[in-house]
Amino acid sequence: MREPSSAIQQMGRSGIREIFDLANTIPDALHLEMAEPDFPTPAHIVEAAHRAAVAGVTTYTPNAGIPELREALADKIATRNGVEAAADRVVVTPGAIAALFSSFLALCDPGDQVLIPDPGWPNYAMIATMQRLDAVRYPLRFDQGFTPDPETIERLITPKTKAILLNSPSNPTGAILEGSELATLLELAADHDLWVISDEVYDEIVFDRSVAPAAAAHDPDRVVTVWSFSKTYSMTGWRVGYALAPRSLSSLLVKTQEPTTACVNGPAQMAALEAVTGPQSVVAGMVSEYRTRRDAAVGILTGAGIPHSVPSGAFYLWIDVSGTGISSADFCRRLLHSCQVAVTPGSAFGRSGEGFVRVSLASETGLLTEGIGRLATSVEAWSTADR
Ligand code: PLP
Repeated sequence: MREPSSAIQQMGRSGIREIFDLANTIPDALHLEMAEPDFPTPAHIVEAAHRAAVAGVTTYTPNAGIPELREALADKIATRNGVEAAADRVVVTPGAIAALFSSFLALCDPGDQVLIPDPGWPNYAMIATMQRLDAVRYPLRFDQGFTPDPETIERLITPKTKAILLNSPSNPTGAILEGSELATLLELAADHDLWVISDEVYDEIVFDRSVAPAAAAHDPDRVVTVWSFSKTYSMTGWRVGYALAPRSLSSLLVKTQEPTTACVNGPAQMAALEAVTGPQSVVAGMVSEYRTRRDAAVGILTGAGIPHSVPSGAFYLWIDVSGTGISSADFCRRLLHSCQVAVTPGSAFGRSGEGFVRVSLASETGLLTEGIGRLATSVEAWSTADR
């Protein structure tokens, strides 16, 4: 038998999945590793999907998405993200993952280099591996607020570099890029004629402002932006995301959908239409709950003297456990086995994530504070015991 694809065989599993699977074998584990909202999809959104299915919206839709949804998204992008865009530049995809996959596919040829954040969401590197791209990681540092340093990035650029991926608000650090930081990064991209893929799936989960700044506002012809319904409306399983691309590129994104996914299913698109045009108080309610949880958890960590980032957006705490001297993967296994608390090892997000763990705020406040309390006690005990 001839060997299956070497790239796919060698591709590592996401370290996020590993701890998730292990946690599922421990009864009574507190699940602070989850990367999805713990709220149900709001009822009016579910009802819209039901109505659509009953009404027969059950056939293929255009590859780029149902026209009314693309129009509504263009409107959302203009009013909430500050980027004026015609609906023909908006492509509806099966989740932001597919939008990211299509963006890399439409922009790059095998062997091209793409710059991705470290720590960064593991799927970026997995997509690069699948598409035979060379993923070069740019480090994000605690003392720089985990925002990308343009000089560090510039040193990594070579003639083979095709695109930079930005993620703000960030998974896992919760950092948000300010407008001036985005402007500098976009200038850097322009100087080296690079594309920018901007992952903004947490755009509306922000704590200290109304919405995160959009990279495309700075240079719309250079940026492909990816958003999602998954986190904003607690719709992870519905699989609806969308991309905004310059017109020359949006037609290529659409082209990639024909032989891969064809389209997002109709009822999910109608649910998304209801989500984006219906009452937005559901989003404000979830964000307010994440803020309460963030503040409660941060209070415990600060009290225990454990270094951590205070997230400005997304729903994760990024906690420095390097004081224990234990690798982040071992720390997570040990915390799970001895304290029944599941958190994600920072090393799953790249080499710069070593020494950190990610805690999700997608658990109700009582469980979260109980879990953070156990984590804080363990950090203290293991820091002394292991020295
Ligand atoms: N981008 C980031 C940074 C994420 O954290 C996630 C999901 O965890 C995604 C993209 C994927 O979102 P979707 O469910 O829309 O595919």
